[in-house]
Amino acid sequence: MKKVTQPGVLEKALASFRRKGKTIGFVPTMGALHEGHLSLVRASKKKNDVTVVSIFVNPLQFGPKEDLKNYPRLAANDLALLKKEKVDFVFMPSEQVMYEKDHSLLIGFESVTSREASPSSIQAISNRFCGEFRPGHFRGVMTVVAKLFNVVKPCEAYFGAKDFQQAVIIRKMARELNQGVSVRILPTIRENAGLALSSRNQYLTPGERRRALKISEVLFWLRDQIWAGGKNLPTLLRQAEEKLLESVDSVQYLAAADPETLIPLEEIQRNMVILTACFVGKTRLIDNVILHA
Ligand code: AMP
Repeated sequence: MKKVTQPGVLEKALASFRRKGKTIGFVPTMGALHEGHLSLVRASKKKNDVTVVSIFVNPLQFGPKEDLKNYPRLAANDLALLKKEKVDFVFMPSEQVMYEKDHSLLIGFESVTSREASPSSIQAISNRFCGEFRPGHFRGVMTVVAKLFNVVKPCEAYFGAKDFQQAVIIRKMARELNQGVSVRILPTIRENAGLALSSRNQYLTPGERRRALKISEVLFWLRDQIWAGGKNLPTLLRQAEEKLLESVDSVQYLAAADPETLIPLEEIQRNMVILTACFVGKTRLIDNVILHA
């Protein structure tokens, strides 16, 4: 496993594999790795000749009052985990390397095809759900992922359904910008008790962790209600939110959407995603369930 900090060094190394016709799989992360990240690494290893993992806590995607400073940084442990998975390259650029002093371009959302952005445009998707509470977040995510795609030029990039809105936005960005990357979205890995694995779970006290279990419990309850023939989506969502509030401190959103377009749904349909963001103590947790008919 090679650890690389300079984009030029990685580009050169990967170019020689590309010339030999080798496929490159890429897993972007912010580190503090867990089994969720490792599931993406294993999928990439299985499908590609060369696997690159990036570890970069991207300041652009954090709001001024968010947890950038306290975000867990566990480089030594991360490197040991990735070595065990036989990852080929770990890209760990510094903030100065990723964003030069006068870095100015953000991947924005202006629609060139219509004045009124359609509800399935990247602009519209980025402003709802998490975007409503984290203004600029997805612009930061798209900017860093676009930069990383330009350095790695992967055939396939792997993202977790855990951050479903992010994955849908990146898939759309890759298509609209002809980045030549297939974006794979893989299932959320959970603790046995149901809690979706997240680097932010480290912030939870034991009591908060117990309360956080309610999130997956309620999402699974909703899924089961719908599968059992429950008909009235707004009522089910209202009941689910009440259940959530028995344990979590606040609910930013709990909503159903079409899994392709992320347009919110008022009625049950064959394929749906139900997404939520909640606070447990000071920790903001997101989760979702995907329903296929
Ligand atoms: P992060 O380090 O939080 O930016 O996450 C890096 C990648 O790992 C993203 O594509 C996430 O969606 C994915 N990921 C995070 N948690 C999980 C999980 N529990 N299961 C599957 N993928 C995950």
